[in-house]
Amino acid sequence: MRFVDFLIDSALRRANRRVLNFSEAVEDPVLPRPDPRHRYLLYLHIPFCRVLCPFCSFHRVRFGRDRAEPYFESLRREIRVVSEAGYVFDELYVGGGTPTVMPGELAQTLRTVRELHPVQAVSVETNPDAIESDAIRHLHDAGVNRVSVGVQSFDDALLHEMQRLEPYGSGATIARRLKQARGSFDTLNVDMIFNFPHQAEESLDRDLEILVTEIGADQVSWYPLMTAASTRRTLQKDMGRVDYSRERRLYERIVRRMSDAGYRRDSAWCFSRKPGLVDEYIVDHDEYVGLGSGAFSYLDGSVYASTFSINHYVRLVTSGSTGLTLGRVMTERDRMRYYLLMRLFSGSLDLVTAQEKFGVRFQKTLWPELAALRLVRAIRSDGMTIKLTDSGYYLWVMMMREFFSGVSDLRDEMRHHIADEHAHPADRLAN
Ligand code: SF4
Repeated sequence: MRFVDFLIDSALRRANRRVLNFSEAVEDPVLPRPDPRHRYLLYLHIPFCRVLCPFCSFHRVRFGRDRAEPYFESLRREIRVVSEAGYVFDELYVGGGTPTVMPGELAQTLRTVRELHPVQAVSVETNPDAIESDAIRHLHDAGVNRVSVGVQSFDDALLHEMQRLEPYGSGATIARRLKQARGSFDTLNVDMIFNFPHQAEESLDRDLEILVTEIGADQVSWYPLMTAASTRRTLQKDMGRVDYSRERRLYERIVRRMSDAGYRRDSAWCFSRKPGLVDEYIVDHDEYVGLGSGAFSYLDGSVYASTFSINHYVRLVTSGSTGLTLGRVMTERDRMRYYLLMRLFSGSLDLVTAQEKFGVRFQKTLWPELAALRLVRAIRSDGMTIKLTDSGYYLWVMMMREFFSGVSDLRDEMRHHIADEHAHPADRLAN
């Protein structure tokens, strides 16, 4: 790792700890009143997966029908609660876990949102096995525009290490399914991961060829491998030690091949052949409401988190409340930093819009950050817009990796006291 990258990486870890610190959070917060001038995005979290992959630090639990059915029912109830509070949503993003784990329940939930809101765009995450199942028909009939398929790699040895080979099929099978599904939705996104410990550069090159030549994917999101405190040991045991010194080189390889194949960089790690939604919904929307267990919301300068206990979530919603259990007001400086991080992730930040939002204080307050970014030649500005340079794009990959790792550490903390509940599918806490 270049020395400057190492310094930036360490600084980012410290900065994230500050921004994501929930130690002064308020318990059982109430959602703020919606602002009628704002457009909101609705995020729904479906935390169930049939297999728990060793590298994954999302909020996910093993699927069980007896837990998932009441969960979907509660989610629809929670959607009605926030709708009655006056929130209007024009975009919906469903993530997990595996949202398509019960396609019928998901379709019913999407219908509930559509009945209550003028939703223009719907994006749903899924796994490769869903592409050849009824789930795809359900998504199509429910008017889903964008489907994001978690593939991670087409290399069978890596898929085996990830414990995904058996449940989701070989790289060749996944590629064939994706090829067949092309054209079924406005955007078919493929989620990939780079910098697995045993991922050779030749393996990455093969993945790139499959994506751009064989499948011709509409969109590819290339995530750097991210770790969290809870997954670090399992990851190392099952997949090896992560070497960050290779990350920049692998990223540059990806950027070269994707751009040679005619893909545009929509964000530091999302590449598209045509305009469409991107994976990081938080980039496009200043404010969003997250519903479901383990979802986060960002509203009116505050971050909110919903309970990570499925049982607690169902109980809260059944009693007529939302699932929110923690809320933290961010300082103005942290809000500006968050805005800078999210806007520049897409490659550019419009200073006029930033000043409309924060006043002229924006550049004055953030001058140390902006000066440091100029010093390492990560950004350039024409006075109206700040843009990432080529080297700035990689810096932003590191920034977002550290940001999401910080979110995962926060998830770990919030899961800590309900560890038994999530330890085994058969475990049922009577809490
Ligand atoms: S990577 Fe996807 S399928 Fe695997 S555990 Fe995480 S959310 Fe579930």
